[in-house]
Amino acid sequence: MSRHRLLLKNGRVVDGTGNPWFHADVAIDDGRVARIGRMDDAEADRVIDVANRVVAPGFIDIHSHCDFILPLADQAEFLRHFAAQGITTLVVGNCGYAPAPINPGTADLMQAYTAFIKPRDLEWHWRTFGEYLGYLEDNGVYLNTVPLAAHGALRIAVMGFDARSPNDEEQGEMERLLAACLESGAFGLSCGLIYAPGMFATTDELAKLANVLQPHDRLFTFHVRGSSETLMSASAEVVEVAKRGGVRVQHSHLEAFGKRFWPQVEGTLELHERARSEGVDHGFDVIPYTAANTTFLAILPPWSLDGGVPKLLDRLADPETRARIKHDVEHAIPHWPTWDAGGWPHNLVEATGWANTWIMWVESERNKSCEGKSLARLAEETGKDPFDVAADLILDEKGQVTALYFGVSGDRDEEWALRQILQHPRAAIETDAFSLGRGRPHPALYGSFPKVLGQYVREERLMTLEEAVRRMTSLSAGRFGLKDRGLLREGYAADITVFDPEAVWDNASYLEPESPPSGIDYVLVNGHVVVERGEPDVSALAGHVLRAA
Ligand SMILES: [Zn+2]
Repeated sequence: MSRHRLLLKNGRVVDGTGNPWFHADVAIDDGRVARIGRMDDAEADRVIDVANRVVAPGFIDIHSHCDFILPLADQAEFLRHFAAQGITTLVVGNCGYAPAPINPGTADLMQAYTAFIKPRDLEWHWRTFGEYLGYLEDNGVYLNTVPLAAHGALRIAVMGFDARSPNDEEQGEMERLLAACLESGAFGLSCGLIYAPGMFATTDELAKLANVLQPHDRLFTFHVRGSSETLMSASAEVVEVAKRGGVRVQHSHLEAFGKRFWPQVEGTLELHERARSEGVDHGFDVIPYTAANTTFLAILPPWSLDGGVPKLLDRLADPETRARIKHDVEHAIPHWPTWDAGGWPHNLVEATGWANTWIMWVESERNKSCEGKSLARLAEETGKDPFDVAADLILDEKGQVTALYFGVSGDRDEEWALRQILQHPRAAIETDAFSLGRGRPHPALYGSFPKVLGQYVREERLMTLEEAVRRMTSLSAGRFGLKDRGLLREGYAADITVFDPEAVWDNASYLEPESPPSGIDYVLVNGHVVVERGEPDVSALAGHVLRAA
């Protein structure tokens, strides 16, 4: 009889398949699940009694933005919030944002592009995607990391922020860079088609990139072009790229912005079913909230972002051009296709209104009082027009502003559209969060997974506990082809989350997001205890950088 290093005793095993829980002890050795069954205390060096607790596979956050935190020596201080909610694996490189490749000629544009999700003084110790992953491996990561290549980064490396299609040579160069990312182990390619420069790409450009993914059988993930007027066309475009490129696709954070577009959620779910019935491997995921956070520049029309942030600032400083931008922000109706001259994928302010647009972070001290306030309120306080508040803030902060947009698939009083998505058996759970320790984070950073387990499983019974765990674990593992994670099985990596199903709860709100959840008791990453009695341990970097093979 060999002694095990660690034994989780008396728990209810929810194994990630969706099957009902069963009583078993779980033994862990060398970072792996050694045995699931009944064992004696004497068989282990350490025994943790987890009676009345659920023992589940560690949660996989299928969509986060931690790429720029992972290179930091003190990353655990930021990533502890993910661990505290039971997350053991982070998928990064989403929505077209990744830290590589870097072309020295356009490095300044990459800096401006990523400023809102990047620590101020981050040093870029790499150029290629492979070098970035190598840097993470050499220095260690707090949580397991599943990296994606990012269309925005590829495009900036080849053609900066130009608002046009690539010529043949440029297209070929993007394809070559993508192939290099895949050879280094990227699990797929993400695009962010509401952001410049991703928004300048045509379906054609994307389909050609899909052709590069195809022989590697890697996933193509989409932050679609529009989630209001153009939601249905934008969702259909994902299916078209899948068909033309012969690839698996993922509609990232499926959502409808603005009350009058909530009914379209049903159409997107039907489209998903139809695609799958036609043999397209189409998936999607969901942020379990009715607000989304991103760069404040996402409110601006594409033409104003042509050439990048410095050009935008010139335009906002010129009264005539500024008036044109104001007119578009307040009146332009998005139409399809969005990449035509004057086209616009997604007018956030027109869809949700200034009262639903809140400032979450500004770079400088002098504007800190704006954080946590809506544009409508700031306009009232300053006696200025809301657009002028927005434009002046962008100018003063050189574009380094993030915002929270409310009215996403629901609001405080009505959540039916969000519930429609959440109830769907193929909706994977995510945070979409990033943590930089500045400004006000989205509450998902602290509570996304506990919110689903507490509110939607225990209180509202939208789905069973086993089903929720499946959609936090094996469903996401399957999308990326992770071979030995996402299930609690002998021989699998010992990524394990232990929680109290009667107590699990998110305590984070929009105004007071920085509250850790309740009921997540233990979290193990590769067999290493990173959360003990609800408290994250930040002393070790126990994660693995995973590479697709
Ligand atoms: Zn996104």
